[in-house]
Amino acid sequence: MSKIAEVGQLNFGEWPPRGGSRTIDCFEKLEQIGEGTYGQVYMAREIESGEIVALKRIRMENETEGLPVTAIREIKILNELDHENVIKLKEIVTSPGRRRDEQGRPDDSKYKGGIYMVFEYMDHDLMGLYKRPGVRFTVPQIKCYMKQLLTGLHYCHIHQILHRDIKGSNLLINNEGNLKIADFGLARYLPPNDRGNLTNRVITLWYRPPELLLGATKYGPAVDMWSVGCIFAELLNWKPILPGKDEPDQLNKIFELCGSPDENNWPGASLTPWYDNLKPTRPMKRRVREVFQHFDSLALDLLERLLTLDPSQRICARDALDADYFWADPFPCDPKR
Ligand code: AMP
Repeated sequence: MSKIAEVGQLNFGEWPPRGGSRTIDCFEKLEQIGEGTYGQVYMAREIESGEIVALKRIRMENETEGLPVTAIREIKILNELDHENVIKLKEIVTSPGRRRDEQGRPDDSKYKGGIYMVFEYMDHDLMGLYKRPGVRFTVPQIKCYMKQLLTGLHYCHIHQILHRDIKGSNLLINNEGNLKIADFGLARYLPPNDRGNLTNRVITLWYRPPELLLGATKYGPAVDMWSVGCIFAELLNWKPILPGKDEPDQLNKIFELCGSPDENNWPGASLTPWYDNLKPTRPMKRRVREVFQHFDSLALDLLERLLTLDPSQRICARDALDADYFWADPFPCDPKR
């Protein structure tokens, strides 16, 4: 029987690994390895087992307001996901804090309000790896990482979860070559039956799809697939393909590469909220094949389908996994290689 984890007033529901009742004292912090949305990320060792983990601190600026809503959402979503290409949230631990009683003695009976998310430790992130001097991914390696990314994303999407911040620094890789999608701080459940509006101010600018830049508030898994297309091309091209300076510039860069939207290539484009203000000043033709003519033709076929302007025609993760690109020589390598 799984336990119910409670941290302060929060009930996180079913919680298989441990009861959520342990404190940060079970871990020895080794070093800070990153800065997350709501606090620092540390490499740490679990004292009992010696296992190396990543601890993500969730700071509570104001105790009366409790945990940031984004942190609660991230925990709830991660708690439901269990897949080899999605980062594993192992447990939540509380920080005892260092309050003092009236005599000035430390009083650890109440924790200050900080909690830590405990993750399996990952050695690298995709962009960090590929920016290393002297590192060149081979085509089988690129295929292997892309396959893992698509497999993890397909799993999220069939569970009705949109990640909404797919980019290289959120794709963590361990020394066994396993890629795991991380940072679910912006993730959301897909509203049922197209109801409910979502914010369009998500996804890091360079990886943000045209429908969000044109103000759409009803959208689906296709937003993540655009980001996958940007990463795929970046891996083959060795530099970001759409490095916009601001939102209008981002949209312009997309139009220059993918052509201007019209009712033929994207029925309904002109109905997006900001179309009239942001529509291209002149018609532009699609240049994906011309710009990336040095890519092999199967890679180009897949890229064309990922960087499709109309989100309803953009390829989904499952179909992308079936693309000939992954089933042709050179084949994806074993992750360990
Ligand atoms: P996040 O808020 O999840 O984006 O985390 C911020 C940074 O902390 C990341 O860019 C990574 O460098 C690092 N990080 C997060 N999770 C892990 C993990 N499980 N293993 C190793 N490093 C991590």
